[in-house]
Amino acid sequence: MFATMEAARVEELHLASDPQTGLRAIIAIHNTNLGPALGGCRYLAYADEQSAARDAVRLARGMSYKAALAGLALGGGKAVIISPPQLASREALFEAFGRFVDKLGGRYITAVDSGTSSADMDCIARHTRHVTSTTQGGDPSPHTALGVFAGIRATAEARLGSADLKGLRIAVQGLGHVGYALAEHLSAAGAELLVSDIDEGRLQRAVERLGAQPVSSEVLLGMPCDILAPCGLGGAINPQTVGQLRCAAVAGAANNQLDSPEMGDQLAARGILYAPDYVINSGGLIFVALQHQGLSPAEITAHLSRIGARLSEIYAEAQAERRSPARVADMLAERLIYGS
Ligand code: NAD
Repeated sequence: MFATMEAARVEELHLASDPQTGLRAIIAIHNTNLGPALGGCRYLAYADEQSAARDAVRLARGMSYKAALAGLALGGGKAVIISPPQLASREALFEAFGRFVDKLGGRYITAVDSGTSSADMDCIARHTRHVTSTTQGGDPSPHTALGVFAGIRATAEARLGSADLKGLRIAVQGLGHVGYALAEHLSAAGAELLVSDIDEGRLQRAVERLGAQPVSSEVLLGMPCDILAPCGLGGAINPQTVGQLRCAAVAGAANNQLDSPEMGDQLAARGILYAPDYVINSGGLIFVALQHQGLSPAEITAHLSRIGARLSEIYAEAQAERRSPARVADMLAERLIYGS
């Protein structure tokens, strides 16, 4: 496990066990150079303890990079709770997790992630104030969608010469919390929408309400379009799909869109502009972090609107240095976190 931590430069790994509630939790703190580590709490059935720890370590690093480039005074962390085979009380489990978080004294701040809900965060909040995205705080997804929309405009400007989306053909893969809200913004801006989702109901809603053209998930990636917006699961750009793309740019909400950094290089080589995922999808993090710090909705909106400008800077540097935007984003984040 130390080798895994060292490879991701994760500084701390905390384990908590509470046999009474069935809690088995892992908190990875990547780095606190810029501030306390903020990152979501996953609640999943992992194959084994090692894969749970690896997930926490890998994701904590991404949160550090995301916070740094979002201009937040935060580091990155991630928690995973291994879902027990038998659960007596979900409330008691998350309350126990809240006590664990509190013991870290604010060095880790938790949030909603895969498998957890705002109601779970409310249970955690009974025992610690180092928690965001409670039911009182509200859903971050609309803020993520707004940030992605701003990022798509900046991407269109950099690649196609104008931030005006009217008449552009935009393919949205995944119409969940973020993808559907994004599709609404794109439709209002006059874009022509191609959409896919493995959930038939979500697909139909976009067809009926937004006039979007439905496409099967396998076919969508290869459809000729101006911008492809992956908003489903990670890994959309992989060795099997990268050669199929027929778009000018990839700019969407999903985390870990690139299967590997080489996929970013391949996109750049093909002239496809890639919006680094953790930059374009940072709106949700900005919302929960600034809300936790007590900023007003107007201040939060102003901060969110800077996502487009940040992407434009990354694109300009990528072009000047002849490197992929993904590699430039990593380099800029590392400079902010480590000062080198
Ligand atoms: P969600 O679960 O609400 O939506 C995901 C959607 O993608 C679902 O409708 C699902 O059916 C669909 N989907 C899954 N596999 C698909 C496939 N192969 N083809 C087409 N559709 C598919 O999730 P979300 O909250 O909207 O998040 C979407 C992505 O954005 C995730 O990768 C998430 O990690 C990332 N993200 C979300 C937020 C946020 O604020 N919710 C913030 C940052 C990043």
